[in-house]
Amino acid sequence: MQIEALRQRLRALGAKPKHEQRLLADWVLARPHEQGRRRPADFLPLALREALPALDAELQSLATLVSIHPDAVGSARLLVGLNDGQTVESVLLPRDGLCVSTQVGCAVGCVFCMTGQSGLLRQVTSGEIVAQVALARTQRVVKKVVFMGMGEPAHNLDNVLEAIHLLGTVGQIGHKNLVFSTVGDPRVFERLPLGEVKPALALSLHTTKLELRRRLLPRAPQIAPDELVELGEIYARSTGYPIQYQWTLMEGINDGEDELDGIVRLLKGKYALLNMIPYNTIPELAFKRPSWERAAAIARSLHQRGVLTKLRDSAGQDVEGGCGQLRARSRTPVAQ
Ligand code: SF4
Repeated sequence: MQIEALRQRLRALGAKPKHEQRLLADWVLARPHEQGRRRPADFLPLALREALPALDAELQSLATLVSIHPDAVGSARLLVGLNDGQTVESVLLPRDGLCVSTQVGCAVGCVFCMTGQSGLLRQVTSGEIVAQVALARTQRVVKKVVFMGMGEPAHNLDNVLEAIHLLGTVGQIGHKNLVFSTVGDPRVFERLPLGEVKPALALSLHTTKLELRRRLLPRAPQIAPDELVELGEIYARSTGYPIQYQWTLMEGINDGEDELDGIVRLLKGKYALLNMIPYNTIPELAFKRPSWERAAAIARSLHQRGVLTKLRDSAGQDVEGGCGQLRARSRTPVAQ
């Protein structure tokens, strides 16, 4: 279900703008409808009132909780069922954050990512993206939404931007707390500045070398890291929020001195933050996680050389690993 189609249905049932906003807010804030309907100002047209139970059930069915996998540090991975039987992952993050999925599978094919191994199976609709937030809010407060789960948001741009608009208007999420994550599709830099709700931007860099980037992210746009950072800088200056550069740190792949020099060359003096995330080793893929001490030394050295760097652990480390693994394991019986 697309949000615009939902709005049209509400209008066809007689909803005035205030009813429409109220009902959409009830949904995305996971508020019971009864609260609003008892108040005289929110009295709804009869056709709308009669249609609400079925509509509520339909919205609830967009994203249902299949299983929940908490870890020891306050994150929890949710396996979320969509109403055609597909599943995606959302992750409840510490400090009221939520990571949502924007596609079932992904076409970018990053060689270190489980989601990338399946290719793209289908887009997640704007309604299903918002429904992941509504579902998470039945578990916990959500004040920040990052679009970093399964999928490349730039490959599902209309749906993601529609969801961002709703979350940033009636969904009570501050605009800078909506974080659009991309491998760097030029369309993102054209479309995001035009929106009423301008999200913060996370760019997956992973390497400063074009050739290596082609190998690691085989179907990402062939945009040079320098150019990506230039585009990011323009967006950061125009919105007033720093760009978050993502760097999945893999032993022997992108943790050498040459890469660190490249990072300093690209990011020093930029309105940016580098999130360094040690790779989460999984049996299915051959990449290795560097030791935490080595990762901490790298982050410290970058910081000292003028690049604001944060070392982060990937959420869900001890609950079936990173992006796409929970879904993959739910579909693939683990060999005994
Ligand atoms: Fe897609 Fe992100 Fe996985 Fe790359 S890391 S394949 S962009 S989901």
